[in-house]
Amino acid sequence: MKRRTILALMTTAIISALSINSYAAEESNIEFSAQKVTEGVYAYIGPITDRTPENLGLNNNIGFIDTSEGWVLVDSGSGDLGTKKLEDMAKSIKNQPIAAVINLGSQDHRWLGNSYFAKQGAKIYAYQGTVKTQKSMFNQVVERMAKAIPSTKGVQMKTADSVFENAENALTIGGVEMQLNYYGDAHFPGDSVLWLPKQKVLFTGDIVYLDRMLGVHPWSNPVTWHLAYQKMRTLPAGYIVPGHGRVSDWKQADAETGDYLKKLVEKMTVQAEDFAGVDSAVSENVDWPEFKHLKHYDSWHKQNLNRTYLKLESSM
Ligand SMILES: [Zn+2]
Repeated sequence: MKRRTILALMTTAIISALSINSYAAEESNIEFSAQKVTEGVYAYIGPITDRTPENLGLNNNIGFIDTSEGWVLVDSGSGDLGTKKLEDMAKSIKNQPIAAVINLGSQDHRWLGNSYFAKQGAKIYAYQGTVKTQKSMFNQVVERMAKAIPSTKGVQMKTADSVFENAENALTIGGVEMQLNYYGDAHFPGDSVLWLPKQKVLFTGDIVYLDRMLGVHPWSNPVTWHLAYQKMRTLPAGYIVPGHGRVSDWKQADAETGDYLKKLVEKMTVQAEDFAGVDSAVSENVDWPEFKHLKHYDSWHKQNLNRTYLKLESSM
């Protein structure tokens, strides 16, 4: 082998070793612990990175509600390993059983932990539209999750024991009043939210993304998502626990999700009505400075424009 080739190989090896190290350093900062939102309500705030074997697919937020029957979890995590972490987090705050799990959505890390908790006697609750999507997309979400986190392979499907038919449902578990509300299809069809009227805490599931850019998938509906946000906005929430990002208030939720959805739908509607073509619709809107601070803006914003435009154009 020539000296130059050896040198080049050595340089590549050093560079890749360095990048592995910085990646590991970033990931090793993951803290699997829950923070207090208000009296009796806690949340695990996942990293706003992608799913990785280190974060066990818990790159989203999960709620913990302390009730006289035990813990009520808002969503159940990504599969047995991640779900076990959630159980540990809850029990380190207060050693009591997981009495119930309420699913707000159908994306992997919202419900693939259901079977783990059900085996321990937890009762699973969800809105009917959520359950419908969970059943139809199960294979797809498991496959996607297993690609990023091989340990989640083989997870069993478990949907709700108690399925709510109405758009607004009042329930009380262990003395804590809650409302499980559906405002419209959003990130996934059947996405719902959990409102605690006494504590003024709103768990928005994937209707709200903070600190990072939201993602429009082929199965997302940005039009009804925008409307769902506006309807949900009437709740007098003091604490917003978003699907992703830090616990905050309406001001930040408006600025980083509500205003974005509004602009996305309005701008792409005009483009679609003019049959401007997807390339021009995207290139004219690629630069939205008010949202550039959001993580993943560069990778998701163009994709969001593209998918929203095509959806609107096909409905014209
Ligand atoms: Zn999500």
